[in-house]
Amino acid sequence: MTDFSKTKQLFELPEGIIYLDGNSLGPLPKSAKNRIAKTISDEWGQMLITGWNKAGWMAQPAKLGDQIGRLIGAEAGQTVLGDTLSIKVYQALASALEMRPDRRVILSDSGNFPTDLYMAEGLIRSLDKGHRLITPAPEEVEAHINSDLAVLMLTEVDYRTGRRHDMARLTKLAQDAGALVIWDLAHSAGALPVDVANGGADFAVGCTYKYLNGGPGAPAFIYVAPRHSDAARPALSGWLGHAAPFAFDLNYQAGRGIERMRVGTPPVLQMASLEAALAIWDDVNLDHLRAASIALCEQFIKGIEATCPDLSLATPRDAAQRGSQVSFRCENGYAAMQALIARGVIGDFRAPDIMRFGFTPLYIDKGDVARAIDIIADVMQNRLWDRPEYKVRSAVT
Ligand SMILES: *Cc1c(COP(=O)(O)O)cnc(C)c1O
Repeated sequence: MTDFSKTKQLFELPEGIIYLDGNSLGPLPKSAKNRIAKTISDEWGQMLITGWNKAGWMAQPAKLGDQIGRLIGAEAGQTVLGDTLSIKVYQALASALEMRPDRRVILSDSGNFPTDLYMAEGLIRSLDKGHRLITPAPEEVEAHINSDLAVLMLTEVDYRTGRRHDMARLTKLAQDAGALVIWDLAHSAGALPVDVANGGADFAVGCTYKYLNGGPGAPAFIYVAPRHSDAARPALSGWLGHAAPFAFDLNYQAGRGIERMRVGTPPVLQMASLEAALAIWDDVNLDHLRAASIALCEQFIKGIEATCPDLSLATPRDAAQRGSQVSFRCENGYAAMQALIARGVIGDFRAPDIMRFGFTPLYIDKGDVARAIDIIADVMQNRLWDRPEYKVRSAVT
């Protein structure tokens, strides 16, 4: 069994805090501090520009990409890091649309994270070819799959409700209808086992600062299936995706395989912290992680439902149909969350009324969940949230 009491020791968790927001920003792995310090002093400080070769900076996006590839069931050499998730969504969608030149429909859902939809809208305008984006409710996606569909673009786990799509089933239905499929794994990578290769995804994208604990601003990843990776045209044709970046050729020629999905200079310091964060996964079995995550979520749901009648479960009750977070609807959810944060229980709020709690067995255990339930029950039962200072909205909720 994976020893989660050991992995918990690997994170810097402030005294008195129960951190249930690793689905938004993972905590600091203790080893990342040394790793970043070393990159700054020994590599940047001493090697200067030779660090690109000597310290292997230039190879990091593919090397770490492969480590993430193992966590999402990707074939070796098909995942690369860079940019932000919004940009990787754009790249994947642009490449996929170009492979279905006779079709005009992009199907997503109303539970997708807005930036994914915004990027699609922007791309549609730039292409100006009459593409349409449809966003039915998550439960109704399947009914919209037909032979007009160019691309099915979904986020596996809904950021608000934690509802999980049946990735293998939807992928097969869409591909049988002749469409390509892009999965956003922002709330899946490091949260549950994923199998992009066997599930048949054409493209997958995700971020590394949530369940992968790479730190604020850590780069995104993109996976392209082997059958497409030498053919997909990277819409953002940057110099580091060129076949020979240092030939400084005046004409663009896409690089081999997944390397072509790189765009510009990689964020070396962020890669350093991500490298330290990814090393933690060497000793983690994803099936054990999933079992522990389900146990924590069940404990939380049971405890909250027994003590907080004002909170109603927004996450599917069936564990197989959710990711690694639990959300409750609450009329005064924003203020309630501020009151919880003031008492050391950190979750977050998503408009209009969702209180969201992420469960990550790497550093959250049953004792933490029990304590969190007690604090939430106290805040809700005694209306401790009903104070003016908890109702003032900050820029980041
Ligand atoms: C977190 C998240 C993003 C964030 O995109 P960035 O470009 O990294 O800011 C995008 N899509 C989904 C589905 C997310 O959950």
